[in-house]
Amino acid sequence: MHNFSAGPAMLPLGVRERLSEALAPSADGAPSIAEVSHRGPRFMALAEELHQRLRELTGIGEEHAVLLLHGGANCQFAQLPMNLAADRTAAFLISGHWGKKALAEAECVARTQVVGSSEESDFTDLPEMGHLPADCAYLHYTGNETIHGLQYEHPPRVAVPLAADMSSEFLSRPYPYRDIAVTYAGAQKNLGIAGLTVVLVRRDLLERVPDSLPRFLDYRSWAKDLSLYNTPASLAWFTALEMLRWIERQGGLETIAARNREKSGVLYRAIDESDFWRNPVADHCRSVMNVPFWPADESLVMPFVEQAEAAGLQGLKGHRALGGLRASLYNAQTLEAVETLVEFMREFERRFG
Ligand code: PLP
Repeated sequence: MHNFSAGPAMLPLGVRERLSEALAPSADGAPSIAEVSHRGPRFMALAEELHQRLRELTGIGEEHAVLLLHGGANCQFAQLPMNLAADRTAAFLISGHWGKKALAEAECVARTQVVGSSEESDFTDLPEMGHLPADCAYLHYTGNETIHGLQYEHPPRVAVPLAADMSSEFLSRPYPYRDIAVTYAGAQKNLGIAGLTVVLVRRDLLERVPDSLPRFLDYRSWAKDLSLYNTPASLAWFTALEMLRWIERQGGLETIAARNREKSGVLYRAIDESDFWRNPVADHCRSVMNVPFWPADESLVMPFVEQAEAAGLQGLKGHRALGGLRASLYNAQTLEAVETLVEFMREFERRFG
């Protein structure tokens, strides 16, 4: 079986084993990590190492706070402007479905301005950058658009703070997180299982947070005491730590990035070499993580999904907002799985092309 799910995504085998070992009954009846107080020494040690490793891998210093939150990226769509755009305008670059969603939620709680959108191209390219508002709180962009399959190779270059939704590419390559004022990402793609949301926020910006915010939504409540403001999603924290250790064992983000580029290269080459398959995204911004693709005849999408599943290739149906097919190639995905998929696509083309 190979799993190409866009998220929750597959775990590396070693991490999945650690998760099941962690929950297995022990001979002496000792409680598992999911059954102990989050204020006790066992969980506190985990929390400390998790914060520390996140800092090391992202290369941020003390100028940033690491917040481990609940609610997924969807919660950040509103929580971020509530905290940092209370009396200013949040600017947006829209390069796909998730950017639009982030904008729609921000509109509920703050002034917003779209300074660039590539919707006219059906999100097959990145937006041109327009003028920023004079009272700009931050410029929000989506590092990797999971559905449309577009990725910024570098963060946009602007003189205002950047806020990046990195949900579907977090820790997939070295990235200048130190230069990004706010980074957020759900854990369920490259950092383990659902239930944990990472926010890296520059501490100086916390001065902007309005005192009227409910404590739970106030970033400042989480920026101290190892994000233990309330009971954490302990298994998601456990798994995230195992993922960070796994990344280190692989050789770090450089190695992971090279592997990810190789995987996506194999798939894009197979698509481009064929008249049967297509991916409409401009070369310079094709996603390394999520590859949407279509057969020449769209009525073949469902037969492909069904036959691929029967052949052990799962999770290839495109997002309902866009249709078609999509292969997600997060860190845990193997080159062997991608080669198997490409072979299956060639065979499918021979039969239906
Ligand atoms: N942003 C991006 C880029 C995503 O890929 C996703 C989910 O796939 C989300 C936001 C929403 O994340 P969540 O389900 O954690 O709220």
